[in-house]
Amino acid sequence: MNQNIPDIKKLEIIHYPNPILMEQAAPVKEIDENIVALSNRMIDMMVESDGVGLAAPQVGVSLRLIVVSPTGKKEDAEVLINPELTNLIGCTDSEEGCLSLPGIRGKIRRSESCTVTAYDLDGNKFTMDATDFTAIILQHETDHLDGTLFVDRLNAIGKMAARRGLRSLEREFDESH
Ligand SMILES: [Zn+2]
Repeated sequence: MNQNIPDIKKLEIIHYPNPILMEQAAPVKEIDENIVALSNRMIDMMVESDGVGLAAPQVGVSLRLIVVSPTGKKEDAEVLINPELTNLIGCTDSEEGCLSLPGIRGKIRRSESCTVTAYDLDGNKFTMDATDFTAIILQHETDHLDGTLFVDRLNAIGKMAARRGLRSLEREFDESH
């Protein structure tokens, strides 16, 4: 049995500094209809928010599940359950943002290519090689499963530039909790 997934209709994208975003997410133990419904809802939420990736902790569900769509289109979306990254090779700098950190962007160094192994919604294990933008999205989203946000990977100057935005999100969080 997986942990309780809240009512799918009530899911919303949570923002920093919600503590769920800083947790280590639990592996998905069983791919049941709740996981299918969660994945489909996450794809819709990602597309509606003009995102290219979304991790379950970002909708308040601390499970190892991500959805990605490098084109931002629904038909290109893929669900990756319990994803593992290997063969992290090369390095590339690019500007990132995050649906859980609205208003904040920053340059991050990531590996240029990687291999991902994951399960799909039918429970089939698959492996995929990714480069460039897709590899960056996969690294950003799997980071979420370990409680790491892209701002944690900013260099000192980037962290300074992000400070005002982070403070403002902290105030918003305090006011709503
Ligand atoms: Zn993110």
